[in-house]
Amino acid sequence: MSTTLDIVRISVLNDNYVWLMREPQSGCVGVVDPAVAAPVLAEAQKRGWKITHILNTHHHGDHVGGNLEIKNATGCTIVGLAKDRARIPGIDVTVDDGDRFRFGEATAEVIFVPGHTVGHCAYAFNEEKALFCGDTLFALGCGKMFEGTPTQFWGSLARLKGLADDMRVYCAHEYTQSNARFAVTIETDNVKLMERSAAIDAARAKGEATVPSLLGEEKQTNPFLRADVPSLQKAVGMTGKDPIEVFAEVRHRKDVFR
Ligand code: ZN
Ligand code: FE
Repeated sequence: MSTTLDIVRISVLNDNYVWLMREPQSGCVGVVDPAVAAPVLAEAQKRGWKITHILNTHHHGDHVGGNLEIKNATGCTIVGLAKDRARIPGIDVTVDDGDRFRFGEATAEVIFVPGHTVGHCAYAFNEEKALFCGDTLFALGCGKMFEGTPTQFWGSLARLKGLADDMRVYCAHEYTQSNARFAVTIETDNVKLMERSAAIDAARAKGEATVPSLLGEEKQTNPFLRADVPSLQKAVGMTGKDPIEVFAEVRHRKDVFR
């Protein structure tokens, strides 16, 4: 049966986005990466939504900080990657790469995406066109490589790149404008990137969010998804090199970018 997801963005802390979503046929309500509890509980209550699930992408405090308080308040089920069960507070249900997690009438494909951490996963609702990718893929960026290797991180991004262009990318931070400032220094002749960068500046000047973005747009403009694209390789002077090496170089340049 086909369904939809009603997805609400909740801005918390400095620049985190918590995603609250409801599958209307079952009434299932999920929270992706609750950094904190109070604003999430308030938003759900305002809408008359009863939280049934928390979906965690990885263990960082700005993604699991609200887990226990929300679970105590609602009795919801906390879902996370089996590999990281020891680091996810209150975890009830573990999932693995390739699992299809049922969320009411919707289904998330669980994708293991190590790199930012070694226990990171993404939830891809392929039918409903929603990708919850935590700190792996950002609008015009990717997460810092805290625990993984370039081989792992590029492998993860390459898998996300294999998803459909019309997927919406629900990442966990509003980092887009600073990511754009970096991206335009990498691929100076990417017209779509220049246009997108200008649109982002305009949106942020009006105080608008830039997330979710479209995966198809990320494929055309996000330097971290383009380590295997000849025009990007040429732009960084690495034509014909292994995409893992190109990714590592772009990640390094971002790390030292001011
Ligand atoms: Zn993180
Ligand atoms: Fe984060």
